[in-house]
Amino acid sequence: MSGFHDTIAAEATPKGHGGISVLRISGQDAINIASKIVRTHKSIEESLSHSVHFGHVHDGNRRIDQVLVSVFRAPNSYTGEDVVEISCHGNPFIVSQILSLILRDARQAEPGEFTQRAFLNDRIDLTGAEAVNDLIHAQTKQAQAVALEQLEGSLHHRIETLLQRITRIRMQMEIEIDLSDQDLADTDWKAIRIECASLVDELNELVRTGQEGLILREGLKIALVGPPNVGKSSIFNAFLETERAIVTPHPGTTRDYIEEAVAIEGYLVRFYDTAGIREAPDEIEKIGIDRSEMMIRQSDRILFITEPGTTDDETRRLEQLTESHDVIRVINKSDRMTDEEVADCRRRGHIPCSALRMDGLRELKDRLLKDIRISQNEIHSGILTNARQIAAASRAAESLSRSLAALDGGAGAEFVAFDMKEASQALEEIIGRISSDDLLNRIFDDFCVGK
Ligand code: GDP
Repeated sequence: MSGFHDTIAAEATPKGHGGISVLRISGQDAINIASKIVRTHKSIEESLSHSVHFGHVHDGNRRIDQVLVSVFRAPNSYTGEDVVEISCHGNPFIVSQILSLILRDARQAEPGEFTQRAFLNDRIDLTGAEAVNDLIHAQTKQAQAVALEQLEGSLHHRIETLLQRITRIRMQMEIEIDLSDQDLADTDWKAIRIECASLVDELNELVRTGQEGLILREGLKIALVGPPNVGKSSIFNAFLETERAIVTPHPGTTRDYIEEAVAIEGYLVRFYDTAGIREAPDEIEKIGIDRSEMMIRQSDRILFITEPGTTDDETRRLEQLTESHDVIRVINKSDRMTDEEVADCRRRGHIPCSALRMDGLRELKDRLLKDIRISQNEIHSGILTNARQIAAASRAAESLSRSLAALDGGAGAEFVAFDMKEASQALEEIIGRISSDDLLNRIFDDFCVGK
């Protein structure tokens, strides 16, 4: 992104008609620009931080709109710079006129540029910046709770604490390296080993819960697999009827399968169905199977659905397709089964259900969510929620494991210190203390303009 020192501006609210729209200006000329275009009773230039002023936007002598102007002075603003927010009537025609006036003296902000400035000015760390975007896009209570905790520093705090603990060991290693030849260091190797092992455990736990955090944020991906006509679509329609349907969480999904998302007990659950594809013959059949395989590979869980009449052949074929995955076996159309058949189905650990009668859905739901119930305490203490964070934490865990191995193998303090340093660097990447322009651009490009 260009010019960190210039003043930037953008509409902060979505385009369209509404009660109000908000235009945001940030940078050293923000207050001056606002005072040039808005006529207020009291001077905006002399206003206090966190004050709101009623006035009119003017283009020369032509009045454009009645507005409220909020003033935030550096460093106590979202970006850490002077920020002015102009709330005008929610009409794109009005917004574009006011924005053109502002842009005579400011530059149009790029996506995420306000938040990037907040990061560069130390108002938030990288996990906070990511949380802003997550909060904007959260569609379930759990995703919202995690994003808010992260925005308020839960993950940052947890990483900082880990970093401090690693730094303490690193300092002891440095002393050991400096003084070893004089035999002056009285290093407590046993205590260091215990602390290092505990750090390894904690990082591994962080990575493990991170996988669940990822599911909280992106949704639990569930592939519906089974022969035609067993009721795959009916089952997911039954979920759509009983739960809150979510409009395509990730727009632009391919036509290879149907995707529907629902919120089940505050969790985003995305169902994938290759409905119809496998029913086509020959060549297309092959493509259909390839697609099912791809869908299965990308899913967190598989609902393997059959009906009482499904042949052993068909079942075996699907078992091959789904082997080595986390499979939940469902036998649909239990309304056509005898009590004895239902009991037998349960004995084999399968879930009997009837999409038609809405039977067995409760049990199915519980099974789907069984392993992803993150406690509020865990969320509060900070969890990882995206692939970037998880990759960095995994690297930190590996480096620390190497330190531990070095300690156990009696390798010198230099070796322990080296791996500890790598672990610190990986953790610093998570909070953005170490970051490349490339990484920052990738993160902030995902944002909308005005945020
Ligand atoms: P899909 O091809 O696997 O997606 O199957 P569908 O959901 O299209 O269902 C195939 C047929 O089975 C339809 O006629 C449904 O009405 C019927 N069906 C679905 N679920 C049930 C059920 O629980 N009981 C009974 N008796 N019929 C069902």
